[in-house]
Amino acid sequence: MTFKTLDDIDVSGKRCLVRVDLNVPMENGKISDATRIERILPTIKEISDKGGKVILLAHFDRPKGKIVPEMSLSPVTHTLSEMLGKPVAFGTDCIGPMAEVAVNAMKDGDVLLLENTRFHEGEENNDIAFSGALAANGDIFVSDAFSAAHRAHASTVGLANKLPAVAGRTMQAELEALSAALGNPKHPVVAVVGGAKVSTKLDLLLNLVSKVDTLVIGGGMANTFLAAQGHNVQKSLCEHDLADTARNIIDEAVKQNCAILLPIDCVVAKEFKAGAENTITGIDAVTEGGMILDAGPKTVEAINAAFAKAETIIWNGPLGAFEITPFDKATVATAQFAATQTKAGKLISVAGGGDTVSAMKHAGVADDLTYVSTAGGAFLEWMEGKELPGVKVLG
Ligand code: AMP
Repeated sequence: MTFKTLDDIDVSGKRCLVRVDLNVPMENGKISDATRIERILPTIKEISDKGGKVILLAHFDRPKGKIVPEMSLSPVTHTLSEMLGKPVAFGTDCIGPMAEVAVNAMKDGDVLLLENTRFHEGEENNDIAFSGALAANGDIFVSDAFSAAHRAHASTVGLANKLPAVAGRTMQAELEALSAALGNPKHPVVAVVGGAKVSTKLDLLLNLVSKVDTLVIGGGMANTFLAAQGHNVQKSLCEHDLADTARNIIDEAVKQNCAILLPIDCVVAKEFKAGAENTITGIDAVTEGGMILDAGPKTVEAINAAFAKAETIIWNGPLGAFEITPFDKATVATAQFAATQTKAGKLISVAGGGDTVSAMKHAGVADDLTYVSTAGGAFLEWMEGKELPGVKVLG
C-alpha cells in the first residue's frame, strides 16, 4: 500500500494538526500505562525539531458529544511534557476561540494539546462543519493514531478532506509492520489466534485461512473447535452453538491449503483461579467437571516447531488464561520462542489487538518482537482484511 509520510511534506513554520492516541489507561486520575504516549513522541519531536507547530488532537474515553470533566485530556499534559522533555501547553477546547487563542500564542517548535475531540458531537458524526472548525487551526494534517483509523471520525478522516494529509511516524511504523505481516509477507506465514471466544473473531479466522500457511487456534476459542470435532471439553469455556461455524472454518482452511493447528494436549483445572490444582492431559481425557485453561507442553512443542519453519508470524490473543498462573505457560513459552527467533533475524513477528499486548508484556517480549501494536479494534479489522477509512485517506 502507498501512503504519504512526513518525508513528503515541509512542516517548518506550519501549524500541524497531529491526531494521536492519548486514550491511556487511568487509575485514580493517574496514568497507569504510558505506552501510548511513548509511541507518539517520535512524531512530535520530529515536527517540533523541524520548526513546525505541533497541535495535538485526541479523544479520551467516551463522553458522547458532551463535556465530561472526568474525561478531560488536561491530566495527560504533565506526563506528556515530562516524557517529551519540553513544555506542553493545553487548550481547553479543540475548536472555536479558545483553540484559536492557544494556537495563535504558539511559536515554531511549540507543542500544544487541545481538549478531547469527543466533547463535540461533530467528531464521531464526521460532521463537515466540525472538521472545518478543526481545520481552521492548521495547515497540515498528520495522522498518527492507527488505533482510531477504523473509525471515520472528523479528526481521523474529515480533516484529511480539508488539509494536506500525511501519516505520522507511529502510523507509518504500524502500517509498514502490518504490510510486512499480512499485506505482502514472506512465507511460510503462521497466524496465532487465541483468546476467549470464536464469536468475536469469525471474520478474522475466515480472512486468515485464505492468507496464511498455518493457523494456530488456541485459548478458550480452541475449545469450540475441539468440541465440534467430537471431543468432550467438559466445563471449559465453549460456544457449542458455533460447532457448524467451526467446522466450516476448518473446511475452508482445507480448501485454501491452510494447515490448522489445534491443541493436542491441555492443562485442566476445576477452578478458574491462580494456583488452582491442575493436570496435564490429552484433549481426549479432560477430567469430568474440568476446564481447559491452557495448552499443554506437546502443543507448545508443535507451535514452536511451526514457528521454527516460519518466516512471518502474526498473533492475536493468548493461548490460555494467561492472567492467572500457572495457566500462562503456553503463551509465555511460545511468545519467548517467537522472540528468540525474531532476535536471531529468522522471523518477522507482529502481535496486537485486545489482551495481546499485556500477554506479550507478561511474557517479557514486548520489545523483542518485530512489532507489537497497541491498537485494539483497528488491528483486528486490519487482520480481518477490512479497509480502514483513516488509512484510506492517506493514500
Ligand atoms: P480476547 O480478548 O478474545 O483476546 O480474550 C482474552 C481472554 O481470553 C483472556 O482474558 C484469557 O484469560 C481468556 N482465555 C484464554 N484462554 C482461555 C481458556 N482456555 N478458558 C477461559 N478463558 C481463556
